[in-house]
Amino acid sequence: MASGDGWIVRVRPHAGRLTRAQAAGIARLAQAHGRGLVELTRRAKLQLRGVAPEHHAALLAGLQALGLVDADAAAEQRRNIVVTPFWRLGEPTPDLAAALAQALAGPLAPALPAKFGFAVDCGPVPVLRATPATIRIERDAQGLVVRADTVPLLARATPHDAVARAMALAHWFAGGGQGAPPPGFHPAPLGCRTAPRPLPGPAPGGWLVATAFGQLQADTLARLAEQGDLRLTPWRMLLVEGARSAPALPGLLTDPADPLLRVVACSGTEGCHQAAGPTRPLARALAGVVPAHGLLHVSGCRKGCAHAEPTVTLVATRAGYDFVRHGKAGSAPDRQALRADALATHLAGAWHATTTTQDAPPHEATDSPLL
Ligand code: SF4
Repeated sequence: MASGDGWIVRVRPHAGRLTRAQAAGIARLAQAHGRGLVELTRRAKLQLRGVAPEHHAALLAGLQALGLVDADAAAEQRRNIVVTPFWRLGEPTPDLAAALAQALAGPLAPALPAKFGFAVDCGPVPVLRATPATIRIERDAQGLVVRADTVPLLARATPHDAVARAMALAHWFAGGGQGAPPPGFHPAPLGCRTAPRPLPGPAPGGWLVATAFGQLQADTLARLAEQGDLRLTPWRMLLVEGARSAPALPGLLTDPADPLLRVVACSGTEGCHQAAGPTRPLARALAGVVPAHGLLHVSGCRKGCAHAEPTVTLVATRAGYDFVRHGKAGSAPDRQALRADALATHLAGAWHATTTTQDAPPHEATDSPLL
């Protein structure tokens, strides 16, 4: 897709995992055909920025050689699967993700809308509940379950039939989601839509490292790939498989108390024609004002690409920055047209006020019970 700094090319690694060779290859391609910059998306994908149109074919060929492009573009679009990064050897997660990808590439796969997605989240505790997905394969105390995200339906499953059940539910949705649900599904309460936001550090399967705004220099990615295979996450972090300590590389956030973990921002005027003002420099400058368990979203416009959940939000406008006390970028602002140089004082006051009243906005929890 076109963007303010050239084309963005998005990559969907299989099962949310990059081998060392694939990660190093992507780094090389980003340097040869883009701005040398790789981004981690909130749907656990990768994207290369600043690709010139005349480089697109060569980039695609390079990605194909790395096994990162499906033979069939429609099948690749259906393969919208987010996978928990915390699986351990012997768990069914990678096999389920591979089988689901295969089923979605098959001739009998239903036509699905672009945003229709799957989550394979079979660890002891679901960690992807806050990540958009239409159908989820999870695990509870009795075993695997397949559930819909927005319809109160659930089926018990085994590692052998979980994908078939997920596909049956996908067919049901593709048919309009009316009438009797597929065999095996019964009414059940919807799952909660929140999950703790993990922090950099040791995690099941390896070590989590974060990036400011999901951006990673290609050189850092290449050096990270020397340390292990990489798993993508929807939290703009990478899990380095098998790592026992934090990789000391430039541009990585490895301190769980780093204030930059408390801000999210889209590319703003630096990379988007629709932006009404800069975002990331402002977010960097304001990160120190955000309290330990807070989250600030700075958006270049009301679309709010960088963060979909309600939180404290600043939205650039032609007249200044709108302030949403607790909401999304498109929510009605509580204050309008604030000057950039007044934002730190305003936010500090707003956070102080919310912590001394009963209606403080709920922030995403940042302490993770994942280990
Ligand atoms: S939120 Fe608006 S300015 Fe930011 S990337 Fe999306 S469209 Fe562009």
